Amino acid sequence: MTYVYITGLAHSGTTLLSHLLSGLDDVISIGEVSRFMSTYHMQKYKARWGHCEDFSLCSCGTDWKNCSFWGPRYNLCGLESEGTLLEKYERLLGSFTDTHLKSKLIVDTSKNISDFHTLRKAWFNSPGSQSKLALILVVKDLRSFLASMKARRVQDGMKTGLVADIRTLNLWHGKNRELLDTVAQLDSAVSCVVVTYEDICLRTKQVIACLCNKLETTYSEDPVSVSHSGSHIVMGNTDFIHRNRDSIKYDDRWFYDTSAQLAYLLHPKARALNNQLIACSQESLDGKWRAKPRQDCNPGQGLHLDG
Ligand SMILES: [Zn+2]
Repeated sequence: MTYVYITGLAHSGTTLLSHLLSGLDDVISIGEVSRFMSTYHMQKYKARWGHCEDFSLCSCGTDWKNCSFWGPRYNLCGLESEGTLLEKYERLLGSFTDTHLKSKLIVDTSKNISDFHTLRKAWFNSPGSQSKLALILVVKDLRSFLASMKARRVQDGMKTGLVADIRTLNLWHGKNRELLDTVAQLDSAVSCVVVTYEDICLRTKQVIACLCNKLETTYSEDPVSVSHSGSHIVMGNTDFIHRNRDSIKYDDRWFYDTSAQLAYLLHPKARALNNQLIACSQESLDGKWRAKPRQDCNPGQGLHLDG
């Protein structure tokens, strides 16, 4: 069994990748596991969505308690039991004992990198329960990320403009710098891949074939689709879970957003990191990428607006 953890900023394509992988025979996507196991997050989730009929719907179509994957593990849910994330990850990893699951790739889209470190500790504490651990960093081109965040700001009635754009780029730069540095400093026991949202959408088959090769699972020549039956995603993107989207549509709004492109031109550090991440994704697809720790590590540095 290989446990695959997908990290990246929200709205960067992490859910899309998880759904694409779950279309493969040997893959089970299980959603935002660390949130599902957290009492704090689940109480917030329940307060916001508890009134909805499909509040506890798994992507397999049944509710969490009756789901074939989560039902036997439902006591890990934050609404059912407290306990540390480390304890719960240890119990989750320890539950993959039957031969059916031993041949599978389990995909966790929790995203949060500190939760990944907890998972990694649990993985080292649970020798023999699983064979491999892998980390995939998904990154969206910062112009595309900016256009998508701007659209959200408009939707939420928040201010837009150059200052807000630069702040968004600072966020993108700081978080992705931290994620790339973390990936580069992991030991060789963890397989790491960097992939962009653009490559996932525009070179889908190549990305999935590359990941299958890296993660040592079978690649099917069947057309890759986000329509899936074998996933058990909880706490995922409701757009996918409830409507079961069956096609990939590249978000090209940034092509027409000249103000986003102006902010991009004004942020050389974010531009440089964007180019570096695109190159990492290309090298990952070519099978040549090797994580290298940075010498001038100064995570989180962006373009300063204050002081
Ligand atoms: Zn399910």
